[in-house]
Amino acid sequence: MDSHGLLSRPSDVAVPGLGNIPSAPASHAHGDGEARPLLSLVVPCRNEQEVLPLFVERVSCLLKELDADYRSEVLLIDDGSTDATWALICEVVRSDGHFRGIKLSRNFGQQAALTCGYEFAAGDAVVSLDADLQDPPELVPEMLARWREGADVVLTVRTSRTGETWAKLQTARLFYWLSARLCSYPIRAESGDFRLLSRRSLDALLSLREQHRYIRGMVQWLGFRTAEVAYDRPGRAAGRTKYSYRAMAALALEAFVTSGRSFLGLAGRLTALIAGLCLLGWMGLLVAWGLGLSVEGVLGSAVGLLIVLGTVSVLFQVLAAEYLGRIFEQVRQRPVYIVEELCVQQPVAVQNLASPQRQQG
Ligand code: UDP
Ligand code: MG
Repeated sequence: MDSHGLLSRPSDVAVPGLGNIPSAPASHAHGDGEARPLLSLVVPCRNEQEVLPLFVERVSCLLKELDADYRSEVLLIDDGSTDATWALICEVVRSDGHFRGIKLSRNFGQQAALTCGYEFAAGDAVVSLDADLQDPPELVPEMLARWREGADVVLTVRTSRTGETWAKLQTARLFYWLSARLCSYPIRAESGDFRLLSRRSLDALLSLREQHRYIRGMVQWLGFRTAEVAYDRPGRAAGRTKYSYRAMAALALEAFVTSGRSFLGLAGRLTALIAGLCLLGWMGLLVAWGLGLSVEGVLGSAVGLLIVLGTVSVLFQVLAAEYLGRIFEQVRQRPVYIVEELCVQQPVAVQNLASPQRQQG
């Protein structure tokens, strides 16, 4: 554990009631002469029983292909699935030693599940990808090539998106447009959570201790040498999206609110502008009164401005409440997720196992 009390990989942490979680050691961490770097794949899964067998098949082919150059581990994080996903994960783990299963105690959301996978990953290079094969595993060798060339962050950028609804594409466009204007570190347009992180960039990411984690924005904030790999994003191989429009809107709000203070600053400036206009209106009213002129026109504009000001201040209060809520949750210091069970070779039940972040008190 380091002096900052940062997140530590569970392979380094003795978990009460569980002992050390077996984890493939990273090549930089052991001296057995193994020259092949360790690749970790991190995969959040929420009710993915339809697609999981296809995913495992495709990933197994990839691992075979990479085997000469890389050792590998695949972390499947079950984010509170209510279908047979966890049973399938345990089955896969038992038949193939590359796979590891981590079951969260409930649905914490994709960003929390990803955080969990990132904390458990021991790799020199760590690739996060969706279970639904929209992030083609076949792209990983190209990402690894960019990493070998010296990139710490390899983003994948979608040149096309198949199988998405018109509404989803338009809301995504609006999101990137707003992000470019409002965020201190704008999200790279058409990049998702399918990315490679080097060990040092992942350690840097894990050192950011916010409870509300919009990982795309956090990675952007980190800096580091970044490379891109372009690809055509296919539709889901099976099953249905786990993101409702409500969940997408919540994630977008997360992106803006957690992207630094510029969003709050913008709201403040807007309120100040309208308050200034209202003041001008009132001054005009007073002058008209003083000069004995008809005040009806001025009064009308002043009332109009007051309505606008009222609306903007209510919006501003809602926004301020969003920040306040996040401060409250940050101060409470609850773990980002809770692990209920691990499946390494045999599933192990764990009582109230908090994230490694919390193991350090
Ligand atoms: N996911 C998750 N927890 C959630 C929602 C989604 O772990 O609460 C996973 C899901 O199983 C998938 C990935 O996150 O592997 C992306 O979800 P999905 O494909 O449904 O999103 P979309 O591609 O439609 O935006
Ligand atoms: Mg998907």
